[in-house]
Amino acid sequence: MDNSNSILKNLSLTQTLFKRRFNDKKNHEKKDSNTIYVTDLLYCPLKPRLREQFKELTLAEAYNPSTLQGSLIHESVERILIEELNAEVEVPVTKELTIDGEVYKLVGRVDAIKDNVIIEIKTSKTDVGIPREEHVLQLMIYITMLKAQYGILLYITPDRVTEFHVDYGMSDDKLIELVQDYVYTRRIPRHDWECKYCVYAKVCPHKVSVNEGKDAS
Ligand code: SF4
Repeated sequence: MDNSNSILKNLSLTQTLFKRRFNDKKNHEKKDSNTIYVTDLLYCPLKPRLREQFKELTLAEAYNPSTLQGSLIHESVERILIEELNAEVEVPVTKELTIDGEVYKLVGRVDAIKDNVIIEIKTSKTDVGIPREEHVLQLMIYITMLKAQYGILLYITPDRVTEFHVDYGMSDDKLIELVQDYVYTRRIPRHDWECKYCVYAKVCPHKVSVNEGKDAS
């Protein structure tokens, strides 16, 4: 194991794992300006704009071991849900909304559905603060879009593996308000901890200083 060929062979495995993650990130690139991802509604509305402007920063994030670990756990849990529960996974959801005469397409991808119940899988370095407010909001949006019975947030953390039930969606007015926050770039940042962990903080003119911790994915 002391020659350069062995070292390169080892790196090729690493490259294979990260390449998959990198391609997933590329597939998430914006299609058109009137398409809004559900995840865009959960966080600072400036992020998707900076994601377009600074594509290299976005793609560099694919090489983050922590998020790679999270996505591998995610894929494993989805496989188990298929095999054990016959759940449908990676289900696309879409809803059209009109704001000030402009039609927007809200799109998302639900981790899993079983018997009209939505399952969202979350990984985190800690179980402190779960269920996170933004994850509950995401589930509420999906419940509303799919008119689902209820939803489950399944958390996989080193300290705890547990689930939280969310049995309410939201009104169309509330959903439109969230989309308006995004369209009109209101609430920058959306959470007081956000800038501290934001990949665009290096270039963002609106960055604010924060003290709180956050590491859920
Ligand atoms: S640094 Fe803060 S304000 Fe700027 S994009 Fe990130 S979260 Fe938003």
